[in-house]
Amino acid sequence: MEEKNLESLRHSTAHLLAAAVKNLWPSVKPTIGPAIENGFYYDFDFSDVFGKASSATKGGASFGKTKISEEDLPSIEQKMREILPSWKEFKRVEVSSTEVRKEFHDNPYKIELIEELVQNKEKISIYQSGDFRDLCRGGHTDKPFSDLKNFKLLSIAGAYWRGDEKNPMLTRIYGTVFPTKEELERHLAQLELAKERDHRKIGREMEIFTQSEEVGPGLVLWMPKGNIIKEQLENWAKQTEEEWGYQRVTTPHITKSGLYHISGHLPYYKDDMYPPMKVDDNEEYYLKPMNCPHHHLIYAARPRSYRELPLRLAEFGTCYRYEAAGELFGLLRVRGFAQNDSHIYCTLDQAVDEFVAVMKLHEYYYRSLGITDYYLEMGLRDPKKKAKYHGDEKMWKLAEKLMREAVSKLDIKMIEKTGSAAFYGPKIDFIIRSSVGREFAISTNQIDLYMGDRFKLKYADKDGKEKTPVIIHRAPLGSHERFIGFLIEHFGGDFPVWLAPVQAMVIPISEKFEKYGQEVEGVFKSSGIRVQLDNRDEKMQAKIRDAQLQKIPYMLIIGEREEKGKSVSVRLRDGRDLKEHKLQEVAEKIAEIIGTRGLDIWNE
Ligand SMILES: [Zn+2]
Ligand SMILES: [Zn+2]
Repeated sequence: MEEKNLESLRHSTAHLLAAAVKNLWPSVKPTIGPAIENGFYYDFDFSDVFGKASSATKGGASFGKTKISEEDLPSIEQKMREILPSWKEFKRVEVSSTEVRKEFHDNPYKIELIEELVQNKEKISIYQSGDFRDLCRGGHTDKPFSDLKNFKLLSIAGAYWRGDEKNPMLTRIYGTVFPTKEELERHLAQLELAKERDHRKIGREMEIFTQSEEVGPGLVLWMPKGNIIKEQLENWAKQTEEEWGYQRVTTPHITKSGLYHISGHLPYYKDDMYPPMKVDDNEEYYLKPMNCPHHHLIYAARPRSYRELPLRLAEFGTCYRYEAAGELFGLLRVRGFAQNDSHIYCTLDQAVDEFVAVMKLHEYYYRSLGITDYYLEMGLRDPKKKAKYHGDEKMWKLAEKLMREAVSKLDIKMIEKTGSAAFYGPKIDFIIRSSVGREFAISTNQIDLYMGDRFKLKYADKDGKEKTPVIIHRAPLGSHERFIGFLIEHFGGDFPVWLAPVQAMVIPISEKFEKYGQEVEGVFKSSGIRVQLDNRDEKMQAKIRDAQLQKIPYMLIIGEREEKGKSVSVRLRDGRDLKEHKLQEVAEKIAEIIGTRGLDIWNE
């Protein structure tokens, strides 16, 4: 189905949801109900139904309740199904502002929307289906009674009216709908899988990370196992980027405000930054929201010659951004993160080739991790809001042209998004999709023709003249936080062997073999394998089950036969039983698999 039709289908079902809720709780105030990716929602104000505090109000479906919950979803769905047959069409009724104000006089949310329409001199329309009427500008399906059959309500959440925390908190009901039953079922199965693979759940079970109220929202505490994953990724990036010609630097977490006035982050980016701390006679220091300005200063530390370019400075730089509390989500949206960042300083002539190389580095990283589902999103200026952006027309056009030229040399799909450029230039994001279908904006890339001037960066060119370098920004592995969040969901915790926090578990079938177990552990350790010995007083089956739950790739089971033969019986995380193999051979084989940083867990 075309995206546009799917959108009408979703939005139409939001009407149906509102009709059912209004029918069940007549004093509810429906607000807005848009289509969203994969479904729809409708926001309601239930305060007149259940009372502002918690006192249960009179009668009906709300008796004894203080708010609606997910337990109510089946009865709402039931009501939707009852209403649906009477919905022959969405009938458009154009109304005058006086009439419509009268009709919605007891709903301040609709009144607010109406007043805006009046102010913008827009036509006001009501859509009626069955006996339900809603203020709406249109975009519905033609035959609701037959089109809207395959829906499902999914969840309930709180949401502020118009996303502003100064406004009342509303109740948001999410749902989804598809043209066919099969598509709906497929989607629900995927949601189920996504729930199972939720990185917060697996992160807790595998002891990868934690968060604490005492530390603050959006700030991640990496546990020992998570830290192994983080360090493995970092080592990989360091080694890879050294091969690709990068040099590493380290910069501090805090900086005087002056630097951000040069970069333009102040005032443009102020709302996304933590407020400053004042020290040394009221000097303001900010936590850094980006690493760029610091790298620019390293470039500017001494005169540069064209011979040094491209100069590629890289750092896993820690940044802090003051994301809205309501936006924070596990590892995927956080307030503190370490970014696989780099800035490449080059001549204008080198910019396209360098950008192509950056894209190829992304492909190399993603291919190595088995990530094949990705595309590019080009963020362009909103032409109606030019005041939001720095730099002149010529610069924006040229930056865009260079990036398009680079992308055209590669075989990656690109879509465009107006209004999502950085304040100093267009950008290209890599969007990757995990095996559960969730999309992650991982890496932002730019050919930046603005900051070089701003920081007065120079190099002496062949002809002896001083010129300003082009700056390329890139972060293929994103931040550790978001990337590991992605990897957890993508692999469902079954990390490639080289990333697995514990790679092998030695499981003696009884305590008699503990000594041999220690010997096995020693051999694996000296082969550089992260191994543990499970010498708990538990049954072998329980130990195997626990190791499987911890998603440990190799279980090495040992008993009398293995001890005599200096061997181990190998079981794999995926359930394969490889039987007995020589201890030394197994250690060598696993060490080799780890060394390749591949995806295979065993090869014959
Ligand atoms: Zn509508
Ligand atoms: Zn940057």
